[in-house]
Amino acid sequence: MSDTTVRVRFAPSPTGYLHVGGARTALYNYLFAKRHGGKFILRIEDTDEARSTEESMRMQIADLKWLGLTWDEGPDPETLIEVGPYGPYRQSQRQSIYKEHADRLLATGQAYYCFMTDAEIEVQRQQSMKDGRPPQVNSPYRDWPIEKAQERLATGEKAAIRYKVVEKKDYVLQDLVRGDVTFPSDMVGDFVMLRSSGMPVYNFCCAIDDALMKITHVFRAEEHLSNTLRQMMLYEAFNYELPKFGHLSIILGSDRQKLSKRHGATSCHEYNLNGYLPEALNNFIALLGWSSPNAQEIISMDEMIAQFSPDRLNASPAVFDETKLAWVNATHLRALPDEELWRRIEPYLKEAGFKMPTDPAWRSRALDTFKTSMNNLKDSVELFRYVSEDAMPIGDDAKEILGWPTTKTVVEAWKKGVEASGTEFMTEEQFLKLQDSIKDSAGVKGKNLFQPIRVAIIGKPQGTELKMLVPLLHKHTLIARADEVLRKLL
Ligand code: GLU
Repeated sequence: MSDTTVRVRFAPSPTGYLHVGGARTALYNYLFAKRHGGKFILRIEDTDEARSTEESMRMQIADLKWLGLTWDEGPDPETLIEVGPYGPYRQSQRQSIYKEHADRLLATGQAYYCFMTDAEIEVQRQQSMKDGRPPQVNSPYRDWPIEKAQERLATGEKAAIRYKVVEKKDYVLQDLVRGDVTFPSDMVGDFVMLRSSGMPVYNFCCAIDDALMKITHVFRAEEHLSNTLRQMMLYEAFNYELPKFGHLSIILGSDRQKLSKRHGATSCHEYNLNGYLPEALNNFIALLGWSSPNAQEIISMDEMIAQFSPDRLNASPAVFDETKLAWVNATHLRALPDEELWRRIEPYLKEAGFKMPTDPAWRSRALDTFKTSMNNLKDSVELFRYVSEDAMPIGDDAKEILGWPTTKTVVEAWKKGVEASGTEFMTEEQFLKLQDSIKDSAGVKGKNLFQPIRVAIIGKPQGTELKMLVPLLHKHTLIARADEVLRKLL
């Protein structure tokens, strides 16, 4: 199903980290491009000077890169130097293109200079509201001859450029997700293309850019559905070919309200920091509004590319279920080969300051032991804490145990037993056997036996099962820790 003419884009307005909703839009466009052997383009919609920053653009680019959603055209993820034949790919650098297009419609009378002030627009808005009409501008300048407007501009006055909606008719969008959507043209009034400051507005830039960048399909958020009418009018005015649109489902939180910060982490960056895998996040967000024809819940990027088609996009709201995300993440994590899993947890262990054995066999054993308790990469910190080779602090909660009369005998017997073990690492059976023999030799049992041994190994009376930990602790480490406890008992 190769169609190399397919060209899709992700067009973020960079105002912060990449939101999971944005990531889903990017992912669907990416999957569609890959499925058809087409091109995926990154266009930066940064005309809102007050809100869009270079820093945000870099953050979004870093997040897309982390997700592995690489683009064929747009700013290079490292250098930001633009790649591709249809640039510039940053709207802030396309001003002359927008101006030239506005001039074209001014020349044909399909657009006009409007000198209305904000205050005049507000008065009209209030009046329409009072009359129960949609707030549309009725500009006294719409029929001015262009020469008259130009004379006024020559005096230094500024004007916005408005598109002139003339014909009363229905525009029918054949939406790839929602089917036919009919927009009566009088839903909108004459809309601004260029503000009096010279800044172009989103609908104008978007339509021109999609056309000039030869975009064939647009998958984007539902909130843009209502923008499509203005964009269709502009396509018609310029005689450009309309791309196919698919407006995606909205994403709700578990309380069925629109997903927002209130629901917890909503940016990809937060999930990255919290130890989520990009392949798991991609898997999870792909299923927010799309389903695999095989009903797969765990799905790789390659499988998604092979299976993606817009007819499985669902228009009804998708619910962002954190519990499911955690499960998807754990499943991907546990399926990683040991070496790869180690490579991914290593930064977390380093950051925590742990000193880990470098032997690959040890790593495999440790991962086998801990993997099933790990839902995300960050979980590794608490799990590996006690098998770090550095000194183990003895917690305050060990004090009571250190005061028991039999503790010293137990810890000494433990240390002796470890010293006598023939191997560098004890097996689980060796450990259980040793514990039993201490019970007999020291004549203690129950908590008087188990808790001093636990303190001698992890410095505190509670924690992970010892039979899991001991086989991962080198004999030297066990002895050093026992000595540390014995010093406290002197
Ligand atoms: N820049 C818009 C946004 O961030 C996207 C516009 C579009 O996809 O048409 O929501």
